[in-house]
Amino acid sequence: AKLQQQILAYDEELDRKYQRRLSVVTELERMLLEERYEFSLHYQPKVNLQTGKVQSLEALLRWHSSELGFIPPDEFIVLAEHAGFINQITDWVVTQAISDLALLQSKDIPLSVSVNLSAQDVTNADLLANIQQQLNQQQVAEHSFAIEITESDLLKEPEKAIRCLMEYRQHGFEIAIDDFGTGYSSLAYLKSLPVNVLKIDKSFVLNLDQQQEDQQIVSSILELAKSFDLHVVAEGIESAESLALLHNWGCEWGQGYFISKPLSFTALLEWYEVHKD
Ligand code: C2E
Ligand code: CA
Ligand code: CA
Ligand code: CA
Repeated sequence: AKLQQQILAYDEELDRKYQRRLSVVTELERMLLEERYEFSLHYQPKVNLQTGKVQSLEALLRWHSSELGFIPPDEFIVLAEHAGFINQITDWVVTQAISDLALLQSKDIPLSVSVNLSAQDVTNADLLANIQQQLNQQQVAEHSFAIEITESDLLKEPEKAIRCLMEYRQHGFEIAIDDFGTGYSSLAYLKSLPVNVLKIDKSFVLNLDQQQEDQQIVSSILELAKSFDLHVVAEGIESAESLALLHNWGCEWGQGYFISKPLSFTALLEWYEVHKD
């Protein structure tokens, strides 16, 4: 009887998950069809750990649905990818990020912005042209715009992804490989990638101050990055102790709640005023 109860509970749980996914996808589709974007971008600063200066920003998508309330990107991005909506969403993100970049520039704030791309974005030839056109239109320099792509996304269609990323590099865009350390890519493969930044996955950084094993992993990634001449960002810095370790190991850039949470554009401007020097 106990097993039966467990099976029943398991079924209900699956059912709830399925229902939730269905309602999220349905809402997303309705919103996109009506071009009624309930999105906003939050910006999380990346700081130079050696000088303490703000270096750049990562754009992170937020969706406040009028029907469903706040839905985290970890929940809806995957669904959007599967449902074929990601290109439209990324177009919105890119447009918003570039118009915010133009605003920053008009306020003499010399920060660059990176945007997260999905696998399907990287191989979408229209996207690169669209980005260039908008940067041109808003008179924003190409070196102010950067992209982040996860290791696992790259591995979906590696040859095609590499070819597409090379085009981004040829146009001078900085490319970061996101969630590094989680995707099982070999060192030889890393060398063949046209990327110039490694972002150490936050799972290795969150408890860096307490976990000996994480310390070993992170310090070896830093060595590796140095030998490949790559810049490094450590993400998920939540404590002064972790920050100090990274600083001592010579890690170049850092990001995390200890430095700043992702901020609305207005909150970011206020944060910048206090932290710019
Ligand atoms: P990600 O690109 O790895 O982004 C880092 C995530 O870690 C963000 O979550 C950020 O808020 C969170 N984070 C930053 N610092 C800390 C910290 O110190 N501690 C902890 N615990 N977390 C920290 P968020 O904003 O919920 O985004 C989750 C994921 O959703 C992102 O992971 C990215 O994969 C995806 N995502 C977000 N925006 C976009 C977008 O515009 N396009 C695409 N394709 N994916 C996006
Ligand atoms: Ca990212
Ligand atoms: Ca991701
Ligand atoms: Ca990441």
